Amino acid sequence: MSFNPTSSRKHYHLFEEEQIDHMYFDISPAGEIDANKYSLYNFTGDPKLEYAEWESRMDMMNSWFSDMKANERFLYERESINGSKVVSKIIDPVTKEIREMLNFASNDYLNLTQDPRILEKVTAIAPYYGAGAGGVPLLSGSMNIIKQLQEKIAEMKGMEEAIVYSSGYGANIGTISGLLGHRDVAIYDMFAHASLIDGSKGSNKKFFSHNDSASLEKVLKNIQNKYINKLVVVDGVYSMDGDICKLPEILDIAHYYGAWVLVDEAHATGVIGRTGKGTLEYFGLEGKVDIITGTLSKAVGSVGGYVAASSRLINYLKYTSRSYMFSTSPFIGSVVSSYEALNLISKQEAGMDKLWENIRYVKDRLLKAGFNIGNAETAIFPIIIGDDNKVKEMTYRLHQQNIFVNPVPYPAVPRKLTRVRMTITAGFSIEQLDYALNQIEKIGKELEII
Ligand code: PMP
Repeated sequence: MSFNPTSSRKHYHLFEEEQIDHMYFDISPAGEIDANKYSLYNFTGDPKLEYAEWESRMDMMNSWFSDMKANERFLYERESINGSKVVSKIIDPVTKEIREMLNFASNDYLNLTQDPRILEKVTAIAPYYGAGAGGVPLLSGSMNIIKQLQEKIAEMKGMEEAIVYSSGYGANIGTISGLLGHRDVAIYDMFAHASLIDGSKGSNKKFFSHNDSASLEKVLKNIQNKYINKLVVVDGVYSMDGDICKLPEILDIAHYYGAWVLVDEAHATGVIGRTGKGTLEYFGLEGKVDIITGTLSKAVGSVGGYVAASSRLINYLKYTSRSYMFSTSPFIGSVVSSYEALNLISKQEAGMDKLWENIRYVKDRLLKAGFNIGNAETAIFPIIIGDDNKVKEMTYRLHQQNIFVNPVPYPAVPRKLTRVRMTITAGFSIEQLDYALNQIEKIGKELEII
């Protein structure tokens, strides 16, 4: 083995010495792995890591985090002491002081996590049922109030039946893995959410170019007759780009080639469609897709997930979807709050108009300032930068100005498309938006992003 570590490099022992080199990292003045030179991929996705023992893998990652912390650039896990509010009180990770920050990092698009009409119902009903469900849905965790929520979701989504899970992640992984086996294939939009992709670990998977029906057709043509069942999987609204799925054409092509279609409505429910019912309502395609999944954690303002489909499919999933079958029913507080939130959304009393006023305002100003916001058309705005260090720096400088946004570095998105992700909620006043947008513009110029 020939390796020759210099004083400015750190190396880590990898198990199979004969097969590959040691891993080297440049170190910073703080003596840790130089955070500016690496991305999360180097510690979570690099194939070389498979040859490292656990201790080495952990030490590499922790050394990288330590360098970020030493430079005050570690902005994950910023703790709120008052929940997800428009102005959230955040413990500064470095100084430990409480900062009152404008929250552009929440998916609580309609600010329903804090809605007094909902909280009143939760405090009245949840104590009656108690702090936990006490069992899985098929055994002792079945409850009338959960059934009511399921009926509400099915009605809203124009499907015969629905079941709820404790999370959207669980709903997606459980639906796809419950349906597809090793002779079946899931065909994903390449920007589909991780929870959908993770569902096909026990089946085959293919990808098509983002929102590109010609690319989907090519994939479907190539795999004709190769698999027993085919499922095309898309998000209604894409979580990192905020654009809407081109569902009409995707649906036509998928059905033409005999594939079923699953739409994840996580970021669409309560945001698009005339009455907030989501992507199907937006396109007038109610009842046309085969499976709808979603989460209760974004505009619905609570926690939990669901799948809605035909009764025979839902009945099948109850016994094949392992994250449903083997997981305790959700907390009743979240069941009540989700029910009330869906009620408010469908009665159009949840503030969707104000949300759209804010979305239009922000979009107009970001475009006028010259930012690249991709094809953003909903409450999610990517400020595309394509340079991880500038993404980190912009997030940090905005933090210093009490503006909470999230960095999205590689490998969460392709390197050329790394970004700051900003979400808009209904509760912002125009003055608050102006303050944030002025800062974003100023910092954008300083960092030569615009
Ligand atoms: N689907 C999409 C598109 C999402 O953005 C998310 C949330 N990150 C999920 C599913 C998972 O939902 P949950 O947070 O309820 O597990």
